[in-house]
Amino acid sequence: MSTIFKKIIDKEIPAQIIYETDKVLAFKDINPQAPVHVLIIPKKEIPSVREVDTSEDAGLMNELIAAANKIAKELGIFDSGFRLVFNAGKDGGQDVYHLHLHLLGGRKMTWPPG
Ligand code: 5GP
Repeated sequence: MSTIFKKIIDKEIPAQIIYETDKVLAFKDINPQAPVHVLIIPKKEIPSVREVDTSEDAGLMNELIAAANKIAKELGIFDSGFRLVFNAGKDGGQDVYHLHLHLLGGRKMTWPPG
């Protein structure tokens, strides 16, 4: 089932897009939890990290990581550090069931996460 992120991919609803390739899209989170909070998503509709086909989607997952590093550099948080998060399912705190990688930075992260 499609989510709001599919509408962002299809440009049916606006988002602050900061990176786009034929397979990947990144945009600013609407409710940022840090000075930098970017969502990096595959255009392929995969509900969560649990449904990733680790053979078929290996290249795609690599692209998400590569995009995160590139964006972190562009936004000036690469050297200071950042956090990458995949929330999965109810207990993981996932709200949108279209796979997304959170890139968080610009402040010191705490551990353990809430
Ligand atoms: P999750 O909780 O599923 O891991 O993260 C979903 C994220 O998507 C949340 O951080 C939330 O703020 C963000 N989000 C939800 N709807 C929208 C939207 O329409 N636009 C943008 N830019 N972010 C959204």
